[in-house]
Amino acid sequence: MSQTGRDKRQGAVKQITSHSNPIVKEIKGLVAQRKHRSQSGLFVAEGLKLATDAIEAGWDVRYLALGPEARENPVAQKTAATAKARGALILEVSTAVMSAMTRKDNPQMVVGVYGQRILTAKDIDASASILWVALDRVRDPGNLGTIIRTVDAIGGSGVMLVGDCTDPFAVETVRATMGSLFHVPLARMSKEEFKSLAGKWPGTVAATHLKGSVDYRTPDYADPVLLVMGNEQKGLEDDMAAACPTLIRIPQAGQADSLNLAVATGVALYEIRRKHLEL
Ligand code: SAM
Repeated sequence: MSQTGRDKRQGAVKQITSHSNPIVKEIKGLVAQRKHRSQSGLFVAEGLKLATDAIEAGWDVRYLALGPEARENPVAQKTAATAKARGALILEVSTAVMSAMTRKDNPQMVVGVYGQRILTAKDIDASASILWVALDRVRDPGNLGTIIRTVDAIGGSGVMLVGDCTDPFAVETVRATMGSLFHVPLARMSKEEFKSLAGKWPGTVAATHLKGSVDYRTPDYADPVLLVMGNEQKGLEDDMAAACPTLIRIPQAGQADSLNLAVATGVALYEIRRKHLEL
């Protein structure tokens, strides 16, 4: 069992002043390497807002590291008390240790370590869903985080990661979600699993494609919607596109070859949900 697993049950407070403390090393590993995140099933999210989001949404908090400023902050104190009552180990650390853990000169006052949550294709109940976005081999953590945040904003059901995607639990991705990671279900699947799911999908399956012949503003988009997006460099793989009955295109007027993936996703999502979103 990992150090993290043992400490989870303690629900205690621990002062850490040394950079070579094993927990500091463990958190550094989680920040730096996907391998460590995958093996432990844990990830790091920086900031008090993300800690409160995680706790409100009932995520498993393993460690909550508090810098000196957080120890004077009533919201941080309340968050830490809730996390501790749920079994988290609270780490009181210096700014220098916080910097070392997060590899940042100006670290946040709170850093949390949480248990990952990720669904499989079998967990997806299409008939109980409103809208899922499926991403074909998304590579850029900023794009993925922005898409998760946008799916949250439009009240979507979740994001499917198809094939070899960037890590949704990387620090950069988590940061770009601005807390939406804790509210939007994620599912990881192979291309074959995706094609099987798309074939049985009860509502609309629409893929955005630069060769699409359908203006994205024209379909009816009956619920549940499965919106499929291509890879940043290569677009959507041919067999993935073939699994989607409608290929939609967003018109462009200038010299740009295409829109950025996250921008195209946002434009399409707001059109699909236009009738359902009110101020
Ligand atoms: N060179 C790639 C290609 O040929 O498809 C460009 C990919 S683009 C940066 C990333 C993804 O954003 C595309 O696969 C598509 O899903 C979506 N996208 C970007 N601009 C689009 C547009 N004007 N119409 C439809 N989809 C678009």
